[in-house]
Amino acid sequence: MDDSEKPPVCEACGRPVTERSKVNGAWLKSHRGCKDRIRTIRRRRAAEENEERVEAMFLEALEDRKRAANQWRWQIENRNELADEHDRVLAATLLVSYRCMIAAMNVMPSALIQYREPWAVDLTRMLGRRTVALIARRDGWTHTAFWEHDPECSEDGTLTRVGAGEWALPMEGMEDEYRDDLDHEDGRGRRTFSDVKALQRLWAEDHVGGQWDPGPWRFK
Ligand SMILES: [Zn+2]
Repeated sequence: MDDSEKPPVCEACGRPVTERSKVNGAWLKSHRGCKDRIRTIRRRRAAEENEERVEAMFLEALEDRKRAANQWRWQIENRNELADEHDRVLAATLLVSYRCMIAAMNVMPSALIQYREPWAVDLTRMLGRRTVALIARRDGWTHTAFWEHDPECSEDGTLTRVGAGEWALPMEGMEDEYRDDLDHEDGRGRRTFSDVKALQRLWAEDHVGGQWDPGPWRFK
């Protein structure tokens, strides 16, 4: 027993400890009467630490989510931009192909009737039976339906026409759609660019001109 040794301060009440161990006479770390309070204090401290840890994890998760959402937004914007370009090119190709077929029917019907010109054959196969028949009907074609006799000419043709789709909506106010038609102004709804719609558009384009300005093309 060392009397010169200073007693420690009790963890619970902050006062110097006055009791010694009955086993070895050393100062106790706290008052015997303070044991319950110490247990309570330690439990509270552990709970607080746990809470801090959980909060830190939560903040980190929030941060992760924000990062993921930003990444996602960027990817979607990128995708929409590319899809937009891609779809416009497709739509333009479609319109130009229709224009070529209309012109061919009006300017070079013999090339189509003989069906020997590679470009005429390619054009027909690209557009497909349904579309060529539709153009022919509108155009008042009275010759052989050459496209019906070509086994290589499928119903739908080889030209990709549609590519509309949707993204799941990850956040409010985000761009969640991309579409493939020419009408991007309103930014609403999902539409596809059909043969009929394309021809209607051509028809409308060709019939806006007056007597002196019939427009660059005439459907008929
Ligand atoms: Zn105490």
